[in-house]
Parts: sequence; structure tokens; C-alpha cells
Amino acid sequence: MNNNKIIVIGAGAAGMMAAGQAALAGAEVTLLEKMPRPGRKLGITGKGRCNITNIANVADFIAHFGKNGRFLYQSFSRFFSGDLIAFFEEIGVPVVTERGGRVFPASGKATDVVSALEKWIKRCGVILQTNSTVEQILIKNNHLAGVICNGKALRADAVIIATGGASYPRTGSTGDGYEFAKFATHSIIPVRPALVPLETEKSTSHLNGLKLRNVKAKCFINNKKQREEFGELTFIDDTLSGPIILKMSGDIVDAMRNSQNVEISIDLKPALDEQKLDRRLVRDFTTRGKEPLNSVLRGLIPRELIREVFANLAIDANKSASTITSKERKQLRNWLKDFRLKIKKHRPFAEAIITAGGVSTKEINPKTMESKKIKNLYIIGELLDLNGDTGGYNLQVAFSTGFVAGQSIE
Ligand SMILES: Cc1cc2nc3c(=O)[nH]c(=O)nc-3n(C[C@H](O)[C@H](O)[C@H](O)COP(=O)(O)OP(=O)(O)OC[C@H]3O[C@@H](n4cnc5c(N)ncnc54)[C@H](O)[C@@H]3O)c2cc1C
Repeated sequence: MNNNKIIVIGAGAAGMMAAGQAALAGAEVTLLEKMPRPGRKLGITGKGRCNITNIANVADFIAHFGKNGRFLYQSFSRFFSGDLIAFFEEIGVPVVTERGGRVFPASGKATDVVSALEKWIKRCGVILQTNSTVEQILIKNNHLAGVICNGKALRADAVIIATGGASYPRTGSTGDGYEFAKFATHSIIPVRPALVPLETEKSTSHLNGLKLRNVKAKCFINNKKQREEFGELTFIDDTLSGPIILKMSGDIVDAMRNSQNVEISIDLKPALDEQKLDRRLVRDFTTRGKEPLNSVLRGLIPRELIREVFANLAIDANKSASTITSKERKQLRNWLKDFRLKIKKHRPFAEAIITAGGVSTKEINPKTMESKKIKNLYIIGELLDLNGDTGGYNLQVAFSTGFVAGQSIE
């Protein structure tokens, strides 16, 4: 047991976990949150359902974080998905596992996760102060000495920064922690939006709401294929979004920052190679030869895309299917395999699910989350240079790094 005074900045997923763990270890913990309520972002995660974690094994889990993922081995060895699930069950949040190993609260409500955490930190003895904005951290002789909050200096023996990234700033995550970390002489890997929708150069507003399942999207950067993903994509307000687009968006944001040309090619029929697709077209156009082409195509692609096909190809939509020439059929086949959209820009932080970049993990002890630069300063959660795919990976990082920091603090 210790009687240290600890300040945690930010009552998100990471901050609440860290605060509760530190209080359980006997510290006097004050959790400072700038918003009127804790966990604003947590409360809107997973489309309001909160994808808490994923049951993938450690190696697969870590692979979702790119090259920096290795940093997580130590914290995951102390607190991983099974521990998090047990923790939530214990605090009254039973969970269910869904497709792709995604874990959600059984109630389907992210707000249940927030209120269970809020009750738990209170039971642990954490003093939660909302409407409390930290403006500065105080450092004395390379030791953390306290913070300035709402203009007042507060002394502390240790400080945990859990202010999150810069995405969805309306939830309170406005990137303040980067300034605190810089002040503590930490290096910040440039922050960029990730898991973010991509705006198409040509308007796609007529496709608004269209969801394409089981398609393949390929990303071309300066005309060179970079990667491809299979699954679901959606058209929303002149943007491409949905799981497979979000997954590729991090690389695309980086390419666009380097003024590279980005195109997305959608293969609407990935299960059929060119020959099989051609046989299918011949069959459809023969058996339904008297019908207009646009009507026959309805059996192959969603209605919303029919207009798009004929706007792109010089083929009469109303001619009868039996009169299509082989050249026209080839054009059609190519389009179905390569519906190409040039990307104008990525959407801003306000619409990004996560922030890429952040406090360099090289300067953080992976066992404890303590800064290697300033004694008794801990940095956790999305503020670190760690960003994973969708699927529950990012919240596990917030909870695991929070757990480790809260338990390690002296
Ligand atoms: C729309 C959306 C959906 C998402 N869905 C999922 C999902 O289903 N599964 C998943 O794994 N991940 C999801 N994520 C990502 C996940 O929410 C974040 O990675 C995670 O919340 C990061 O936790 P954190 O505690 O580090 O930061 P945050 O949750 O951002 O919390 C930081 C807190 O610090 C406070 N704060 C900031 N500055 C100050 C200051 N100066 N003083 C005091 N307080 C301050 C903020 O108000 C905030 O409450 C989603 C993100 C978004 C935007």
C-alpha cells in the first residue's frame, strides 16, 4: 500500500482503468476530466455498442498495429483480452463475442460500459473531478511535480497523462497531451487522422447510403497497386467508408500528405475471374435477350450502380440485351472488375476513428508506461504512437496500458 498523491489527466478508457488500479494499490488518486462527464468517446464507440476488445491471439492482435505493435507485448502479458472480459463481467458488464472475434457488452450499449466504469472508479476511491481542464504539467528536477488545472496548481507525486488522441475532438480528445508530452521533452511522431473516410473527386452523392458487401477494393498510389482488402464498403456523403476503406485509409492519408495520386478500384465481382464473369454475362444476355440491358444488370449489381455504369460507358442502357456487341460486353466486364474512383482528400480529424502518430513508444518503458525522460510521468492510451485496425484493438490498448500504469505507479 502507498499513500502517494496521483493525478490522472483524462477520464477516457485508459484514464479510468489507470485511476482505478492506482487507487486499488492504495494511492490517493484524482482523475481530472475536462468534459462535464467521463468517457464521452467511449460512449459512442462501436456505433454506440462499444467493441471492447477482440479474442484474437496475442500475435494476431499485435499484427493489427503495424511495426510498433511489438511495444504492446509486455502490457498484454499482464492484462489482455481475457483479463479485460473477466474485469467487465466482474463489474457487471456481461459480454458477447461476435463475428471476427469482436467483443461487445451483451446489452449492446456503450453507455453501460461507461457507467459501470464510472461506478467502479468511485468504489475504488478515485476522486473524479469533471469540468477540470489541465493546462500544463509541472516538472521539477526531472521529476513530475503536479499540474495546473483550471488555473490552479495541484501537487502530485506522479501524473498519468491519458488525454487520448486528436480524433473526434468534440468528445474532449483535442490533442492536449501532445503539448504536455513535448513539454516533458518527448518526441512526437507527426499526428495524422487514421481509420478515416475518403472523399471522392467526382461526386458520389447519388450513391449515398449504398453498402457493397463482399467486394474487393484495391488501392493504387501513383498508379501502383499498394494493397487490397475484401469485405464491405459504403458510400456516404461523397466519401468512401466502411471497414475495408477505413483499414486502408492510414496508408492513403500518408500518400496524400506526400501529394501522391490515390485511386480506389472496386472489384464488384471478386468471386468471378474475367472468364467466368464473361460466361455469366453471355448467359444472362442470351436468356433475357429481349429485356433492356439496364434491367438485366439488376441481377448482377445493386440498382444504384446501374446509372453509374451507363454514365461511365458509352453503351445505350435501353438497348435489348441480345444486341450487345462483344466490345461492349468487354467494356462492361472491365468496369465490373475495376470501378475506379479518384480520391480527392481524406476527411479531417473530426471524422477519424483514431489518431496515427503520437508520443514515441521508444521513450516509454513498455513494462510500466513510465516516461524514460521524466521520473513519475506515465503516458498511456491513444496518446501513444499506436493505432490499430477496427475490431476492438484500440480499446484493448487503452485498457491494457492504463492497467499497467495504474499498477506500476509508486
Ligand atoms: C466514433 C469512434 C468509434 C470507435 N469505436 C471503437 C470501438 O468500437 N472499439 C475500439 O477498440 N476502439 C474504438 N474507437 C477508438 C477508441 O475510442 C479510442 O482508441 C479510445 O477511446 C482511446 O482511449 P483513451 O483513454 O486513450 O482516450 P479518450 O477515450 O480519447 O479519452 C481521453 C479523455 O481525456 C480528456 N482530456 C483531454 N484533454 C484533457 C485535458 N487537458 N484536461 C482534462 N481532460 C482532458 C478527454 O475529454 C477524454 O475524456 C472509436 C473511436 C471513435 C472516434
